[in-house]
Amino acid sequence: MRELNETHNPTLASWVVSANQGDTDFPIQNLPFGVFRRKGSSEPFRGGVAIGDQIVDLPRIAASCLVSDQAKQAAEAGGMKNLNALMALGPSAWSALRLALSRLLRDGAAGQALVGSCLVPMNDVEYDLPAHIGDYTDFYTSVHHATNIGKQFRPNNPLLQNYKWVPIAYHGRASSIGVSGQSFRRPLGQVKDAETTTPVLTPTRSLDFELELGIFVGMGNRPGDPIPITDAEEHVFGICLLNDWSARDLQGWEYQPLGPFLSKNFATTISPWIVTLEALVPFRLPFTRETADPQPLPYLDSTLNRASGAIDIRLQVGLLTVGMQAAGAHADYIAETSYHHAYWTMAQMVTHHSVNGCDLRPGDLLGTGTLSGPGTNQAGALIELTAGGKRPVHLSSGEKRIFLEDGDSVVLRGWCERPGATRIGFGECWGTLLPARL
Ligand code: CA
Repeated sequence: MRELNETHNPTLASWVVSANQGDTDFPIQNLPFGVFRRKGSSEPFRGGVAIGDQIVDLPRIAASCLVSDQAKQAAEAGGMKNLNALMALGPSAWSALRLALSRLLRDGAAGQALVGSCLVPMNDVEYDLPAHIGDYTDFYTSVHHATNIGKQFRPNNPLLQNYKWVPIAYHGRASSIGVSGQSFRRPLGQVKDAETTTPVLTPTRSLDFELELGIFVGMGNRPGDPIPITDAEEHVFGICLLNDWSARDLQGWEYQPLGPFLSKNFATTISPWIVTLEALVPFRLPFTRETADPQPLPYLDSTLNRASGAIDIRLQVGLLTVGMQAAGAHADYIAETSYHHAYWTMAQMVTHHSVNGCDLRPGDLLGTGTLSGPGTNQAGALIELTAGGKRPVHLSSGEKRIFLEDGDSVVLRGWCERPGATRIGFGECWGTLLPARL
């Protein structure tokens, strides 16, 4: 279990000046991990840690005399082309590296010139996926999303009986997961309109985003060895932003009886930075379940999960059209919510996923599912924001949207803030829809 320690101290400042500016996502209390190289170079991709507008180059830190023991081992593992080896080391190694970096980067630290030589400006880099993602599982943990969507597919029976007992998920597709900046073509698939008897193959007419968080598995488990809920968070490396693009018309025709297939597997975009669970300690909240609802079965219940299973991660979705971009405008923010509205916690997801003996591996990605809150502007998908197309979203440019149009870009943002703690952020997760290939 992670606890508050000196790395969270809100009075800590960094000699990296940009890390102390109020609006930065990456103060010294955050220290998220990603994979990068200099833009357009043939350098190898390698792991780094964000600090202000700079990145700590992990292989350089590992090769220096600045870190030792477990922190050095973690920096070496994190310096590879992806973070899987670091993820496999477990929480004490991640924590040792975080503490070492915090001490090297804080005001007054010795060796600033040497550490400074290990920094790369963020503006000069390009990112790769932070991990080799062997398997991707997408959950459905927002009861508000499940109810809103259920109403559209099954008006009389929106929430199926199993929802409040079992964390629902399906196995997604890892091959089409890309890092922020991903663009993809409008997918084709079978669509059958209500008034016709025969489906047609067509570019989707209802391309949607899904505001989610991605949970990266750290240490795995052996096949046949379930992860008890008391250990579940020890197996989580950290959290990123995730946009699970969805083609609603394809989904409506194909999803029964086995769930989504081509409506979901053409593109998923994640942010380059993974915020560790240790950085998120100040923002934990109790997990609560209304007394009228079934309480979680014992294997999905623990004292720790009740005390602090939820996390207050504020989330926003922005939309930028081609016209807005041409006019030099910023994205319009069209939805805002928080992760703490989720019905099932991260620990419950991990434990349920492995209760049958299924093995999770370092770098596996668990999507939370669309994170909608109770309010109408807290919906994490256009199908909900527009009430199934009945209420278009109006943009500052005068344009409106029911679903996405070619050239539209969607940006997800996430951050945590509360009195007495330093605000930390997740950076941004951008993706762009290109015209269909016909
Ligand atoms: Ca999803």
